[in-house]
Amino acid sequence: SVPLTFFGGIGGAARKGILIKGGNYMDTLAKTGTVVFDKTGTLTKGIFSVSAVHPEKLSPEGLLHLAAHVERYSTHPIAAALREAYPGEHDGCTVSDVQEVAGQGVKAVVNGHAVCVGNERMMEAVGATVGVCEKCQGHVGTVAHVAVDGSYAGHVVIADQVKADAAQAIADLKALGVARTVMLTGDHQQVAYEVARKVGIDETHAELMPADKVAQVERLLRQQLAASTLAFVGDGINDAPVLARADVGIAMGAMGSDAAIEAADVVLMDDKPSKIATAIRIARHTIGIAH
Ligand code: ADP
Ligand code: MG
Repeated sequence: SVPLTFFGGIGGAARKGILIKGGNYMDTLAKTGTVVFDKTGTLTKGIFSVSAVHPEKLSPEGLLHLAAHVERYSTHPIAAALREAYPGEHDGCTVSDVQEVAGQGVKAVVNGHAVCVGNERMMEAVGATVGVCEKCQGHVGTVAHVAVDGSYAGHVVIADQVKADAAQAIADLKALGVARTVMLTGDHQQVAYEVARKVGIDETHAELMPADKVAQVERLLRQQLAASTLAFVGDGINDAPVLARADVGIAMGAMGSDAAIEAADVVLMDDKPSKIATAIRIARHTIGIAH
């Protein structure tokens, strides 16, 4: 049974925009020793905008046109950026056989051509060779590669921004004695390490498929000290299984999908990672652990 005082803690947290789904999580939250973050939409805003277009075939407009049409139905933040960058909406283009591959990208048939938009893994899967991009040297961004009928057509560079309170969020967790902060992402290593450096995350694992994220969390759970727990924080895009696997799953509520809110134990209504430390503080206060 759950002590009555826990309900006071739940109410106090709710007033701060932190929804805790039941008193059992007070205890689990209070003992948090590891916090694992998803990157996109969690530590970063998840609002991408196109910063460069580097075609190898086609014109820049032609490349954006294909990318925008392939991404027509995707809810991924990258898809939104590509659609926004190509304003000519429905220009008589036919799009069929749309197939979204989690952690890779989207495939579709556009005007009879097999078009793929996604990361290097997706290009590899369709046999398109990604060359070294001279124009991309020394700069960092998420890249959406495009292949047409299995041959490489170029890429679009997309930039996201670190959330204003992300570095503070990590500093607050360290001040509370949270021993380990980890970032898991499907994005490229370069982008991942840049974000981790900016926010002060200890440990980063990049280029992960959704199933790899679950495996990483399971590995971290095994390494966990007996009296401490692991929290995973995500926006729910591809990470509902990890939210469910962690001792405490924390979802970003405003951006997050219904699946994430369902799978999560704690929901942050305003998407601020700094609320994680607030939630731990409230939990410790509620169950009376002195820190
Ligand atoms: P994260 O782990 O950063 O939240 P995801 O697991 O959602 O990222 O996606 C991992 C990678 O897969 C992205 O960085 C991107 O390269 C690729 N990807 C996923 N969905 C799409 C899409 N709709 N369009 C293009 N690329 C995508
Ligand atoms: Mg994500």
